[in-house]
Order: sequence, then structure tokens, then C-alpha cells
Amino acid sequence: MSHFRLYFLTASLFMGLFTVCSAQYPGWQQTADYNMNIVLDTANHQYEGAMVVTYINRSPETLNKVFWHLFFNAFQPGSMMDVRSRTISDPDRRVGSRIVELPEDEWGWQRIESVKVDGTEVDFLEDGTILEVILPKPLRPGKSVSFELAWKAQVPRQIRRSGWMNQEGVEYSMTQWYPKLCEFDHHGWHSNPYIGREFHGVWGNYDVILQVPAGYGVAATGVNTSQRSITLPDGTPGVAHRYKAANVIDFAWAADPDFIEEAVEVDGITMRLVHQANPEIDSNWTALADYAARAMAYINQDIGKYPYPEYSIVQGGDGGMEYPMLTLITGGRSLRSLVGVTVHEMAHSWFQAVVASNESLHEWMDEGFTSWAESRCMAHLFADPMKPESNPHQWAYAGYINQHLSGNEEPLITHADHYKTNRAYGVAAYSKGEVLVEQLGAVVGTDVRDNGMRTYFKEWSFKHPGPHDFKRVMERESGLELDWYFQYMMHTTDAIDYAVESVVADGDALNISLSRRANMPMPQDVKVTWEDGTATLVHIPLVMMRGHRSLGEGEILGQDWPWVDPTYQLTLPTHNLRAVKVELDPEQLQADIHRDNNVIEFDLTKAQEAHQSH
Ligand SMILES: [Zn+2]
Repeated sequence: MSHFRLYFLTASLFMGLFTVCSAQYPGWQQTADYNMNIVLDTANHQYEGAMVVTYINRSPETLNKVFWHLFFNAFQPGSMMDVRSRTISDPDRRVGSRIVELPEDEWGWQRIESVKVDGTEVDFLEDGTILEVILPKPLRPGKSVSFELAWKAQVPRQIRRSGWMNQEGVEYSMTQWYPKLCEFDHHGWHSNPYIGREFHGVWGNYDVILQVPAGYGVAATGVNTSQRSITLPDGTPGVAHRYKAANVIDFAWAADPDFIEEAVEVDGITMRLVHQANPEIDSNWTALADYAARAMAYINQDIGKYPYPEYSIVQGGDGGMEYPMLTLITGGRSLRSLVGVTVHEMAHSWFQAVVASNESLHEWMDEGFTSWAESRCMAHLFADPMKPESNPHQWAYAGYINQHLSGNEEPLITHADHYKTNRAYGVAAYSKGEVLVEQLGAVVGTDVRDNGMRTYFKEWSFKHPGPHDFKRVMERESGLELDWYFQYMMHTTDAIDYAVESVVADGDALNISLSRRANMPMPQDVKVTWEDGTATLVHIPLVMMRGHRSLGEGEILGQDWPWVDPTYQLTLPTHNLRAVKVELDPEQLQADIHRDNNVIEFDLTKAQEAHQSH
């Protein structure tokens, strides 16, 4: 749907409440400060919206038009999201063919009624989930412009993330719900049509008034600054809830008449838990508060301090989805599942909300890093004294390796919307992304990797970094060259398969033959266990790393392994001891696709030759 109008300008400049630091790589970030007034009509599942957005062009380029997201338009038969869901070979079961089957009064839509730029009505074009606004005069570098939008929206029946009446009966899950400026950054515009996947946003300050019927509980991004009794347009009593949020990339909210709230404080952050009063779930949500507080404290230590004053965990949506200062999760879960989804969505606060990489282009930098932080946090929350050595990342490794071996793996550089299957996207973004971080421990050392993650968060908060920015942090932290690692992990589906080919005792020497059987090179760690229980550790760097990780006590540095060489010979003195086991990558940090060939063991109780091979 589109329509055009043209007026001429009167300038009015609306200044936001806060300003965003601009001294950032690549030296600039666009800013969009939103003032919104929303009147919800619960009888028709519609709302009326008005907004004033102050947009500052901090880029070095002159802009002639701007793009906005109209996400709700995806929830109509024939939308790109609908067609994608009905034509992909493994549709998300939550979507399937539900959009094409929606009756018209359950569609989602956003109908723009007018757009003013500095007071002048201007041309605009609605094209599916994207709104294009032509600027009446070029917006030069360093200049700001004020947009005034009036629009009507119909909230879709809840299908994915957003909508009314989700499967648990939560009335309004309001996410991707307002006309939202697309991000323009040093790569250009990011006006991807919405097909139900990842996001990217402009930093800004939000001041939002939500007018809803009296009796509704509301949760939202930001801090509630006032609640005022009003009369709604239909004459019924209402409440205007006002929320302010500083320096966020999005704004989400939820409303339900049965919402109740509990709050906990941790590290000066108020955490709100908002769910429907329901004896079947109340006790789990009460227990969740303690886990959520411990998780917040843990990730504050592990990655860096959460920078916002509040965080809300809200029942709504369809599983779990992260937004700045808030997550929507389904509430009727076992306690463990409730904690798991909360920790995952909360961990997104660091990587999706604050570092905020472009999730569409670099989905693994969001979902993968988040999953990595989640696994560490869950291992902390549910530490099992019976299994202190269990690897919290094992499911990510298994998922990635299985997908690789299936032949259906797609490279991490694939745009999130364009994977051939949902499964390939999921494994790449979540599992391989988590492996990419954990496996760096085998290259730079796990302590250096952990410090690197903290440095990355500190240096790249509020800057939308890309893969090379992350790589450079890890290079600086380790003093090693890592371009090869990211090249293989991001741009190829090559995998790691190193093997112990043979072990031969020859007098005082143990001759170990190693090989690289698959394409991706990696430094190697060899552990030789001797019959008296002692062990020898050897670290073998790659030539192209230009160095090696720091060695542990007693660890031996092997000669560099040139990646072109498929084999490597290692000779160790036996000191008159027989070897019982020779193992590659004993810490299992590498996603080696055939771990069975990493080990050769000798059963010394049986007479056997002191050599063995794969
Ligand atoms: Zn996630």
C-alpha cells in the first residue's frame, strides 16, 4: 500500500534527551531519538501511533532518502515472510502456513498516514515491510532532521515473536511493532525485508507513552517514569504508562490484565520478572528471580558490566526473544528450561543490545557469542560436583560436527535470511558461532580468549563491530596472527581433522607421526601419558601464527607446523618409560570431526608391539 503527499518545509528541530558519543569506529554512528505516543484499541487489536524522531546524520555521506522497517506488514498472506515459510524445506513450525491462513482481522499491518520532515509533508512509499521516505532536501553530514509520523496499525494474531494472544494467553507481545528507522552505517543501508529472522538498529533515546486500558499490566524497554489515569478514545478508563530508555537499538513492550511483577536487585540493576498470575507457573517464576540475579552477576564478571539500570524478563512471545533491557519468553516451562531460556536471552544483552553487531550479516557474532556466554553461565548456575570436568560447550560442538558431516553446512558469511535451510542457519549462527569462540582457546589460550572477550565488550560497546574488529581484539590480546582462523571458520565449510597416525618406540625415543587429514589447519596439542602416570605435553604452533600461545608449566614447545605439510614427525625421549596413550587435543577444544583418530592407546598388560597406527 502506498500513497503520496507533498508539502513544503518549516524547520523544527527536536532534540533528544541524551546524546550518543560519536568518537567511535569507523568514527561515526547514526542517531535516532524517538518520542512516541501510542493508543491501544484492545477491542480491535489495533493501535494509533504518533512519533517525532530526531535523526542525526553523523555519516560522511549526504542522504537523499531514508528507510524504515514496517515489520507488522510481514503478517499478511503473500508477504515475503509467508512465502519464505511455505517454500523453505524445513519451515519453522511456529510459522509454517499460519500466515496464509490468517483471517483478515488477524493480519498485521502498519498504515502510514503522514510523514513530515522538519514540518513539511513529504512523499513516501510503503513496499511490504519497508517504508521509503524521500527527503525534501539532502541531509548533509553532521545535520539533523525531524520526522513526524502518524500511523495506524493492526497487531497480528501472535505467530512469531509479536502479536496478540500468544499460545499462553498473553494478550500483547509488542515487538517489531513501530516504524523503525533502518540502520545506515559504513556498509550503507540495511533495509532488509522482514522474513522473521535477525535485526540491526540505530542507537537512540526513547521516550514512549503507552495508553492502554486500566487494569493492564505493562512491561517495556526502559524505565517507567510515570503512570497517569486517562480516558481512552472510546470513553473507557485507561492508563498512560511512560517509559524512557537511553542509548538502545529498539523498544519492545508487553501488556496483559493478569500480569504480576516481582523485582530483584543485583549489582545496582533492577531486574523485573513479569508474568501472568497462574498457580501453575508462579513458583517457578519466583525461583527464577534468584537464578536470574545470579546469572546477571556472573555475566557482569565474565564479560563486563551490563550498562542499563533495569532488565525485565517478561512472559510473552513464542519461546524466547531478546530486546534491549527486556526479553519475552514463554512462561509455562520447567524451572531448568525457564532458567535456560532466560540466561540465553539475557546474555544477548551484551552482544545483541550493547555491542550490537549487524545480526543479519554476522548472525554468529550475536547468537554464537550469546550461546557461548550462556553455556558458561549455565555451567556456573548448575555446576555438578559429580562432573566437574564436563564440557559446557559439548552440544555446540556435536551440533556443528553433525551438520558438517551431513554435507548441508553453509558458511558463516551467509546472510541470516538466505541460508537454504533453517537448520543450516541455526547450526551456523548458534553452534558454530559458539565453537568459533571456544575453539579460539586452542589457538590463543583460554585465559587470553576470556580476556579478549572482556576487551571486545569494553572496546566495542555501542559501536556495531564486525568480524575484523573482533579478530583484531583477539590478535592484540594474543600477539598472534589470526586471519587464517577467521578465514576458514567464516568463509569456508572446511573442517578440522587431525590424527595420530602412528606411535613407534625406538630405543630411547618415541616417534609420533601426526597428520592433517582435512583442510582446516590448527595448532596442535599432544599429550603423551606414560606408564607411571606422568604425562608430557607438547604444543605445536602453525608457522603463520607468528608465535604461539603461552605454555603451561613443563609444556614443551614443538617446532612450528607449516600448514602446507600434511604430516608432522614428533620425537620424544622415553626416559625408559613405556607410553600408554598418545592423544591430540586432549582438552577437546577443537571441533575435530573424527575424534577417534586423535588417540592411540597401548594395553601394557598384553604383549604387543610398541607401536600402533591408525
Ligand atoms: Zn539468541
